[in-house]
Amino acid sequence: MRFVENMIKKSRLMSPWIIHFDCGSCNGCDIEVLACLTPLYDVERFGVVNTGNPKHADVLLVTGTVNHRNRHVLRQLYDQMPGPKAVVSIGACNLSGGVFKDSYNVLNGAQTVIPVDVFVPGCPPKPEAIIDGVVTALNVLKAKMGMGPAPEPALMPGDADVAKTAAAAGESSA
Ligand code: SF4
Repeated sequence: MRFVENMIKKSRLMSPWIIHFDCGSCNGCDIEVLACLTPLYDVERFGVVNTGNPKHADVLLVTGTVNHRNRHVLRQLYDQMPGPKAVVSIGACNLSGGVFKDSYNVLNGAQTVIPVDVFVPGCPPKPEAIIDGVVTALNVLKAKMGMGPAPEPALMPGDADVAKTAAAAGESSA
């Protein structure tokens, strides 16, 4: 039984299925995600398959501005995905609300609705950065399946600088 479980886990990792949900905004990030699927950037070389069905998906790529209206759809998509699963938040709008941050109907990032494992900043981020995020998400997935080392906690852009500053302050006060 354990052998079968391991086979299933390995199969999921070798051929992860990805679902992409665009919450809206200018669609610039959406286009960059689609560019990753073209032969030029070829994210499929990692065994990735794009699916429209959350029940078949291992990784959720989410772009655009999360607002009070689409947050229910986002949550529903996430809940329908089988575990373990990973979420990649792509673009400034999705990370924090971007230029729409603090608007009356905008939530400040996808992580206010669902747990996010990887943040890919940019407006829009380049396809290379998105592919890097997908590969990181696969490592997160591997760790969640108990087949790899525990992933580093996801940091929002800027958090790393804050952490570095805090560490430096700690060193200087020691
Ligand atoms: S982050 Fe920039 S490119 Fe991406 S959806 Fe928002 S405004 Fe458009």
